[in-house]
Amino acid sequence: GTIGRCLDEAVAAFPDREALVDVPSGRRWTYAELGRDVDRVARGLQARGVGRGDRVGIWALNCPEWVLVQYATARLGAILVNINPAYRTHELAYALNQSGVCLLVAQPAHRTSDYRAMVAEVREQCPGLRETLWIGDPQWEGLDGDGEFPADLAPDDPINIQYTSGTTGFPKGATLSHRNILNNGFWVGELVGYTEHDRICLPVPFYHCFGMVMGNLAALSHGACVIIPGQGFDPAATLHAVQAERATSLYGVPTMFIAELGLDGFAGYDLTSLRTGIMAGSPCPVEVMKRVQTEMHMAEVAIAYGMTETSPVSTQTRRDDDLEHRTGTVGRVLPHLEVKVVDPATGRTVDRGLPGELCTRGYSVMLGYWNDPERTAEAVDPDGWMHTGDLAVMQEDGYLAIVGRIKDMIIRGGENVYPREIEEFLHTHPAIADVQVVGVPDERYGEEVCAFVVLSDPSGTLGTAEVADFCRGRLAHFKTPRHVHVVDGFPMTVSGKVRKNELRERAARALQ
Ligand code: ATP
Ligand code: MG
Repeated sequence: GTIGRCLDEAVAAFPDREALVDVPSGRRWTYAELGRDVDRVARGLQARGVGRGDRVGIWALNCPEWVLVQYATARLGAILVNINPAYRTHELAYALNQSGVCLLVAQPAHRTSDYRAMVAEVREQCPGLRETLWIGDPQWEGLDGDGEFPADLAPDDPINIQYTSGTTGFPKGATLSHRNILNNGFWVGELVGYTEHDRICLPVPFYHCFGMVMGNLAALSHGACVIIPGQGFDPAATLHAVQAERATSLYGVPTMFIAELGLDGFAGYDLTSLRTGIMAGSPCPVEVMKRVQTEMHMAEVAIAYGMTETSPVSTQTRRDDDLEHRTGTVGRVLPHLEVKVVDPATGRTVDRGLPGELCTRGYSVMLGYWNDPERTAEAVDPDGWMHTGDLAVMQEDGYLAIVGRIKDMIIRGGENVYPREIEEFLHTHPAIADVQVVGVPDERYGEEVCAFVVLSDPSGTLGTAEVADFCRGRLAHFKTPRHVHVVDGFPMTVSGKVRKNELRERAARALQ
């Protein structure tokens, strides 16, 4: 079906159940109210000339209006373009022009970000941009019209251009259809067992697939409720929202959960309403998974693996998986999808138990990168396999373990070193709250292992010698970090991923 049809079904089945709660403003929508507001916004956009296939940009942090625009554009068959709220004028102009946005819905300001001034600045460089609607302005509030919605929308129509996180370079715009993301959101929700009684707290950005598909569409397709704890991630606001709204599910990238567990006053929050949640986006340390299950009451928490280009999820742990599989793997392939692990040099499938490049295929694979057939052809082969750029191991029992990104692998003296393994090990050090491992150039070995650590006690210290002592006898010498830097935090993308590129540059500079 289409996202509009899915909304109609939720409105018909659960009119009086809560659909959306914005904790900071206290505003709430039932499914009946959500349906009405989505239709009003859709008619308003239509009256301003937006039709099927037109690109509508959204440039805002998490807020209820984001969700209204997501569903209103889908109703019209318009293509929603998610624009990263961390963008500044150079990137904004690029995204608007690259995707041909004709109408932009934006938030006027947030903290020190003056979005009005930035749009004014790029206006002349973006001739295709006809209009900007500012959330909260009279024009936004007065949106309405009397048009009919198109009745012939097809599941394979493009309805979304989602930019990747930009962890490894400039973000790429993945073009996705109703079929891509609605099915994926449905299955993600199905595997964590959502019903209309679930209340999902989403501190992850809507601009990214984690929020808008795994969050919003998983909720919509099960009649569950979305809870917005605030704009941008704040660990205290997130735990407050869980407690105040009796959330049953909580999402986050690993660093978000680490921040929540480490919060002063963590023990004072009542998190007993939680049952499940999803951790995804980057490697999920076993230690953190265990603490989330016990200390945050999320006994059924799932790990999901995916990428923007595949709607996003390809594999996920199941509710009945045992602890080992639930913490140490990214689960099994989703229903109706295929995965294989190949030797990147030959393209041949490698034996189970051996690392190789993960490839995925099925309904979830994007239509392509927007207006970029060359890069699309590099990513998706003629047989429809998406080459993920991630190294994975397919275990004997069909569970997948992610080893890391091909680009992050360290080659030290001819030995392949996977940062992930060292990070997992260092997470067991009592003084280390969070850790990232990268390679640095080394005259003798080509590359050496470098660790950036965040300490549990910010006033403490930790040196290379102490880390080496901790590793001695337990980790091979070539994996032991030769460089250790204590830091307050890591450079992050808005989707909550560590920019390892930047850490690599920093580590290399520190040698000079
Ligand atoms: P870009 O493609 O722009 O460099 P990105 O790959 O980080 O950025 P996303 O599409 O947001 O953009 O992220 C997908 C990537 O995130 C995957 O390719 C994988 O490397 C990583 N990832 C996602 N989930 C997991 C997981 N559960 N465990 C390990 N890595 C994960
Ligand atoms: Mg990527």
